[in-house]
Amino acid sequence: MRLKRGACLLLSGPSGSGKSTLIRELLQHDPNIYFSISTTTRGKRPGEQEGRDYFFVTKEQFEEAIAAGAFLEWAKVHEHYYGTALAPVMEAIEAGKLVLFDVDVQGFEAIMKSQLAEITTSVFITTPTLSELRRRLEARGSDDPATIERRLQNAKEEIVYMPRYDYVLINDDLAKSRKKIFALAEVARLKHSRQELEAFVELWVRS
Ligand code: ADP
Ligand code: 5GP
Repeated sequence: MRLKRGACLLLSGPSGSGKSTLIRELLQHDPNIYFSISTTTRGKRPGEQEGRDYFFVTKEQFEEAIAAGAFLEWAKVHEHYYGTALAPVMEAIEAGKLVLFDVDVQGFEAIMKSQLAEITTSVFITTPTLSELRRRLEARGSDDPATIERRLQNAKEEIVYMPRYDYVLINDDLAKSRKKIFALAEVARLKHSRQELEAFVELWVRS
């Protein structure tokens, strides 16, 4: 007998901590992972693709989607809207996938209050130091100096939420971080809802 429904792995961490890098590794490693592509009103960075990294929309389109109740959660981060569409996430869970979220601390709080909380494993990703975060944001070369300062300021506010997460990944050596995130994805799959487990038990005693 098998448990058929999927689970969720939620990643948060300051911009520049390495979430996108680790997500790319996970997606290459495991075809059974579904990345929840967020919708945003921020501009596209060099190398980003519509429908792969984000759905890029206008502020008006985003506000229409809020009004239509399309989002599992949404938040304003660094003065832009970001949101997670509900329907594709539920479909992926029903199909037995591990759903990967890259959301800020507000998204984390909202998802942990939603119906998905009991099947969600949360991981906070950070650099070893704030100065290393600055180095990586500068080296990434995708943000102007004012944006980098805003992201660093935001990082100091976000890191305070770290103790609320199930796990912490200090992304120092990339090869080691890759191994850790693969291990966390394995563990996250083992989380099931009480309802699904009760149904399993009922069948199991008769099997
Ligand atoms: P985020 O998605 O959290 O904003 P990125 O994945 O874009 O962060 O990473 C920010 C920058 O840091 C990128 O240029 C990336 O190549 C680099 N990076 C990621 N992980 C490491 C690491 N372990 N060591 C050094 N540089 C890294
Ligand atoms: P970036 O602009 O660097 O891609 O993302 C900025 C921040 O927005 C990151 O902290 C990222 O986790 C967060 N983010 C991305 N998508 C979503 C989303 O759908 N919901 C929420 N709440 N945050 C998101």
